[in-house]
Amino acid sequence: MKRFSAHAAALAASALAAALAAASGALPPAGARTQQAGPAYDLVIRDARVVDGSGNPWFRADVAISGGRIARVGRVAASEARRVIDARGQVLAPGFIDVHAHAEDIYEQPDAENFVRMGVTTLVTGNCGGSAVDVGRFLGRAKETPLAVNLATLVGHNSVRREVFGLANRAPSAEELERMKGLVEQAMKDGAVGLSTGLIYVPGTYAKTDEVLELARVAARHGGVYATHMRNEGLKVADAIRESIEIGERAGLPVQISHFKVSAKKLWGQSEMTLGLVREARRRGLAVTVDQYAYTASSTSLDSRLPDWVLEGGREEGKKRLADPEQRRRAAREMKEGLKRGGNKDFSYAVVASHRAKPEYNGKSIAEITRAARGKKDVDSQVEQILEMYEAGGAQMVYHSMGEEDVRRIMREPFTMVASDSGVRRFGEGVPHPRGYGNNARVLGMYVRDLKLVTLEDAVRKMTSLPAQTFSLRDRGLVREGMAADLVIFDEALVSDPSTFEKPHQYAAGFSYVLVNGEPVVEAGRATGARAGRALRHAAEPAAAGR
Ligand SMILES: [Zn+2]
Repeated sequence: MKRFSAHAAALAASALAAALAAASGALPPAGARTQQAGPAYDLVIRDARVVDGSGNPWFRADVAISGGRIARVGRVAASEARRVIDARGQVLAPGFIDVHAHAEDIYEQPDAENFVRMGVTTLVTGNCGGSAVDVGRFLGRAKETPLAVNLATLVGHNSVRREVFGLANRAPSAEELERMKGLVEQAMKDGAVGLSTGLIYVPGTYAKTDEVLELARVAARHGGVYATHMRNEGLKVADAIRESIEIGERAGLPVQISHFKVSAKKLWGQSEMTLGLVREARRRGLAVTVDQYAYTASSTSLDSRLPDWVLEGGREEGKKRLADPEQRRRAAREMKEGLKRGGNKDFSYAVVASHRAKPEYNGKSIAEITRAARGKKDVDSQVEQILEMYEAGGAQMVYHSMGEEDVRRIMREPFTMVASDSGVRRFGEGVPHPRGYGNNARVLGMYVRDLKLVTLEDAVRKMTSLPAQTFSLRDRGLVREGMAADLVIFDEALVSDPSTFEKPHQYAAGFSYVLVNGEPVVEAGRATGARAGRALRHAAEPAAAGR
């Protein structure tokens, strides 16, 4: 923590110096520049409509950048900067902070083009319980392999649990729990921004509330946040929200509910109730916030359709169970019951994004695949099809399971952030959920401009200062002097998300420039290949230690 304070002070001092130099418009501080005074700034973006991330109405200004930071917001002459970008008629906003990414493999695709092309300049990965266990090493890799975006990470409960005692369906022993706490502690010291859980996934789903609570307490001591993919997002979503809030309340840390949604058809329209639970917690003084992607379909594994007891111990164990006709019948029966309880007639809502064993299934629904492969359309055949695909290695899926009314109501809520739940996409591979290419653009184009559901200023706030505040990214998320120069320039009239469920591999449109730490990663609408991203290590508040 001390390390950060010193760092922050240095940053503030240098920003202040830059700001003062700029404000006086005269001599720079002694020693700051050579006698042959060149332009004061590296870059100036002129005549932009600045939507500064605070939610305030836009204003017109020039924004100058020096040394990767915003040095001046006001009037800046073109002659004062080495480079000028004319942003007349365009919106200038802070770079978008996507707090719900799954980018563990980003070092294999460091350009992260699907993200930067929709204005994302910072990713928070390690969500849903899955992260690098050695956070120090993970973030440290950005030195050898520079990234186009800034990268922060949570430490995942599932990953930590798996590291300590595998996929066992039981509570940890006292000694195992201590080891898990030790791993979380180390991750927090290494700069994780908090703890994540994925309580529907193996092995996180085997954890009782108290186990998570113990780890959340460790994250709390370091000023982290608790980000959760809850135990249930369907019929038992209210219980799951209560559990999340309880963990935050008892452990004493902020709660971020990931990809907030109502995903059982039977409960469509119930977002008023689920948001009410969050509002009520906030009224009691608990810092609970949520994030959301702007689509009525989710994306996760095929495995999530199978009963927990089948999945226990991993796929090989699961296959052994399913080889026993008795257990296979039981699994099929439970899957059919689950389908009915959720209000679905069959599995036509479930579409394959990527199935390695048979890529020709990609983009088709389970109902379509079953018809083609078996010449049948009854639910029993569809269940059997799913079991076979599980046995063949599983699949990544897209589930059309939400109601538009709920998506809109959740989006309007002030504490909702915009986040993709996406990974770094391999262009052209599979038929993944379009959110990885279009999420931010869709909010700005469809929900802000076309539907006027939220204002531009508020949508930008949900993508910038609100995530920065929640995840303690203190020098990002606002267009203010001294802040990191993560900036995006877009045309409000043109911003759009051509990526669709059928043809997802299409970049967002309308973004002319995206700057990360002052460097353009997108220029004239194209990726530049610049890699100016930084690993962002969490810095605990000194006050948090005493709480
Ligand atoms: Zn998740």
